[in-house]
Amino acid sequence: MRALALTDNGLTYANDWPHPAPSGQQALIRIRQAGICNTDLELVKGYLHFRGVLGHEFVGEVVGGDSGWLGARVVGEINVACGQCDLCRAGIPSQCRNRTTVGIRQHDGAFADHCTASPTRSATPKPCSSSRWPPPTNSSKAPTSPRGMRSSPPTNSSKAPTSPRGMRSS
Ligand SMILES: [Zn+2]
Ligand SMILES: [Zn+2]
Repeated sequence: MRALALTDNGLTYANDWPHPAPSGQQALIRIRQAGICNTDLELVKGYLHFRGVLGHEFVGEVVGGDSGWLGARVVGEINVACGQCDLCRAGIPSQCRNRTTVGIRQHDGAFADHCTASPTRSATPKPCSSSRWPPPTNSSKAPTSPRGMRSSPPTNSSKAPTSPRGMRSS
């Protein structure tokens, strides 16, 4: 699969990165979007000496694995618990002794076609109806003062009212 990984040769784009295999209750997630944050930049500079696929902020769709969330759209948190150690079995996977971190520590991340994570513990399902962003604007109403903050009429202007901040160009 395609992946942007940190290797001994630096930041490397690969077309043939090994496809991740979900273990335990991990989900295989097809990445839709991923964000770049400063941690990624620090990792590239050598922080934590990470080697592997970068990316720990993502939204994707569960396409495999045994998580029970097949087909769900999920956002990922970054910690992946093992589900096996004493602390996981005690119900506190956030303190897992074998915890890895997506895209940061011993776990390939989201700058790839797929990654694995543990959605039952570290991701939130999102209804598909929330997928449209930005939300559609309501253009049927005439522009009014927002929330009644202005009591005076708009300034004399020869220009027709336009949507605020130029969000619409037509
Ligand atoms: Zn981050
Ligand atoms: Zn554990």
